[in-house]
Amino acid sequence: MKVGIVGSGFVGSTAAYAMVLEGAATNIILVDINEALARAQAEDILHATPFAKPVRIRGGSYPDLDGAELVVLACGVGQKPGETRLQLLERNAKVFQQVVPQVLQAAPEAVLLIASNPVDVMTQVVAGFSGLAPGRVIGSGTILDTARYRSLLGEHLAVSPHSVHAYVLGEHGDSEVLAWSSAKVGGVPLLNFAEDSGRGITQEVKSRIDGGVRYAAYTIIEGKGATYYGIGAGLARIARAIRDDERAVLTVSIPTFEIKGVEGVSFSLPRVVGAKGVLATLPPSLSDEEMAALKRSGEILKEAAGELGY
Ligand code: ADP
Repeated sequence: MKVGIVGSGFVGSTAAYAMVLEGAATNIILVDINEALARAQAEDILHATPFAKPVRIRGGSYPDLDGAELVVLACGVGQKPGETRLQLLERNAKVFQQVVPQVLQAAPEAVLLIASNPVDVMTQVVAGFSGLAPGRVIGSGTILDTARYRSLLGEHLAVSPHSVHAYVLGEHGDSEVLAWSSAKVGGVPLLNFAEDSGRGITQEVKSRIDGGVRYAAYTIIEGKGATYYGIGAGLARIARAIRDDERAVLTVSIPTFEIKGVEGVSFSLPRVVGAKGVLATLPPSLSDEEMAALKRSGEILKEAAGELGY
């Protein structure tokens, strides 16, 4: 599969590196407004290919995305001193309005995978102005938050995170919802499994795991200035689902119509991902409290997208 990545900073280049390590693509083109950066990142990653999968990777410009089946959008601008959140959002929306038409001109059939933050709003903006079929514009959403949730639960329960089926829904951010009521371990309800194995989910355990998922980015940014390995691996995971038309259930963000009151808002629910993008959504089974929190999360995003006119 040919993959384009626009934005060759921390997130874009790490996604490319993860795709090379696991062979999620056969051909990768890195694009950036800073062309020298795209070329340098591609050259550096190319030198890993003899130790990894024989992926072809190079820096290029928009016409080189010709025939790409997937284009990851990891471009964006950082917050300037004194800039409000809305001003930043407006500048990033402008970047996407410039970038997406050039991507689609070269790769009219590509699935667009948005990774830039705030990812849910950016996804809604691109889904809105591109007019592409629903499900072809996907935000990485809570793919990483879900991975953090599963790994912390797996650690607490001393069981592989692969056998933990638990999802983080809603916004990729502070208002996200950890779905406890529907979580399962190998088909057994989480709470039963935890009690039976003598590793109960006490209030203290619950709030430790909740904080470890919800505020992970803050702690990591405090320590190293940015987060990119986790999301890079998550983007490669989504790429693999698209490459193999896998129909994997992943928590990704698209405009959502399943939740009353926040119809059209882009956020994450468990969704079936295949070659054409999101093929179906699994309406979550939630407690009343979780559903209320999910609606609140949707309202926060609705307001942010509304400020931008979407
Ligand atoms: P992150 O940590 O989210 O990856 P970075 O700042 O490291 O953030 O990367 C963002 C990248 O997006 C930068 O390399 C920047 O040059 C690129 N970029 C910004 N604006 C554009 C644009 N209009 N077109 C293409 N790339 C862009």
